[in-house]
Amino acid sequence: MNTLHTDLLLEMKKRTSEKRATQNTTILQQHSCDESYHTPVLPDVVVYPSSAEEISSILSFATEHQIPVVPFGAGSSLEGHCIPVRGGISLNFQEMNHILEIRADDFLVKVQPGVTRTQLNLALKKYGLFFPVDPGADATIGGMAATNASGTTSVKYGIMRDQVRNLQVVLADGTIIQTGGLAAKSSAGYHLTSLFVGSEGTLGVFTEITLKVYGIPESLLAARCTFPTVQSAVHAASAVLSSGTGIARLELVDERSIVQVNKNSDTSYTELPTLFLEFHGNPASVTYEASLTQELLESYGGLEWVEERDSKARAKLWEARHHLAYAFKHGYPGKSMMFTDVCLPLSELSGAIVHARETMDALGVPGAVLGHVGDGNFHAILMYDPSIDAEKEKADIVNASIVEYALKKGGTCTGEHGIGIGKAKYLASEHADTLPIMAGIKKQLDPNGILNPGKIIL
Ligand SMILES: Cc1cc2nc3c(=O)[nH]c(=O)nc-3n(C[C@H](O)[C@H](O)[C@H](O)COP(=O)(O)OP(=O)(O)OC[C@H]3O[C@@H](n4cnc5c(N)ncnc54)[C@H](O)[C@@H]3O)c2cc1C
Repeated sequence: MNTLHTDLLLEMKKRTSEKRATQNTTILQQHSCDESYHTPVLPDVVVYPSSAEEISSILSFATEHQIPVVPFGAGSSLEGHCIPVRGGISLNFQEMNHILEIRADDFLVKVQPGVTRTQLNLALKKYGLFFPVDPGADATIGGMAATNASGTTSVKYGIMRDQVRNLQVVLADGTIIQTGGLAAKSSAGYHLTSLFVGSEGTLGVFTEITLKVYGIPESLLAARCTFPTVQSAVHAASAVLSSGTGIARLELVDERSIVQVNKNSDTSYTELPTLFLEFHGNPASVTYEASLTQELLESYGGLEWVEERDSKARAKLWEARHHLAYAFKHGYPGKSMMFTDVCLPLSELSGAIVHARETMDALGVPGAVLGHVGDGNFHAILMYDPSIDAEKEKADIVNASIVEYALKKGGTCTGEHGIGIGKAKYLASEHADTLPIMAGIKKQLDPNGILNPGKIIL
């Protein structure tokens, strides 16, 4: 260990406390990666701050000495977001995991960034409230806000950017600011809350997050419906959206993914492209909407319709969908997973999905195609052996081809996972005009480039 390294540890202990800064090898390794396939890099030190004031003190020191600072939530991101590519300080928020205020009458909650979505929903339950955004992993609210996460319920409730009402942010120079307020709407100046949401730790560190929450629906009904082809399933999904039904979840899983689900859990679902759906309302409204939707789906080629009302059966149905990535991981031991995450106008979605599957098959890259079809967002999970260069190259080609197709059709390279390292090369083609403006904002807020360097703006 060199002197600089040791000095940094001592400095961080001084600015937090003896036990909240470490250079323990195992802990450094845990903060060297996320859930992605990108190469891990060790931070120099991991710090567990307990307040905005401590973070302010750490950031002003880091700016003065030009030391990178990388926020770390649950580490579940998929594009190398929290890999400290230039070393420095990894900031872990596990000590800042308190729910600060529940304003049930205002449908608002204020949390520290290390609160996880499951923890938040447990606390909200006794008020009859819930927070809908559900990325597959049990992510932190800080990480979800920083990646502008979404999930299966976004078709009804919206994405993180729609939920964040206010952020307390520590800027690179240590200044602490509030970006919003408690009002449901405001036309007061530039919308800085929206700018910080999705900034992936590159513009500031979130220390408090005020979120919109919702009443738990009286009744929920989940269903799944099989289709002869992926195209017919996507066309049927579009018809559901046009019908005006207040659908709360509308997910597609292709037939090969269902095969993998059956292999890895005790399900025996028919191995065909399948839509997973959920309706939220009261007992009469969900029954009515489900029966209308079943009729509609059948007119678009829907084959087998199965409904689940019981909470355990519903949870099992969604578990199959949420655990799909892990089903592939178990099914292909030793292989890495590369996720694509394009989002397109709905009318282009079925073509894009077919293109993705055909490209995977042509290059012999195994994996899943699944998506939040209600939002036009789908993922290909590409499995490859990291020790075989040719396999990684093929996965890269499929990834690039899926992104190029989406951009040509007016889509985006990332619907919800974010840019991180992996999608940075596509940002210039998607936003050639505005990339210099983004770089200017970064320069203004973080002139020394200490905040999560090597992400979004290279
Ligand atoms: C199996 C699986 C399924 C997934 N499904 C989805 C999905 O459906 N939808 C989806 O959106 N995502 C999905 N993800 C990706 C991931 O869960 C999300 O990106 C999530 O929002 C990351 O949260 P985290 O707490 O793990 O953040 P991390 O991975 O720890 O960090 C993510 C980014 O946020 C920054 N950050 C963290 N905390 C702060 C803070 N307090 N202030 C400023 N910046 C901060 C980090 O620096 C990093 O850039 C999935 C991941 C897995 C493994």
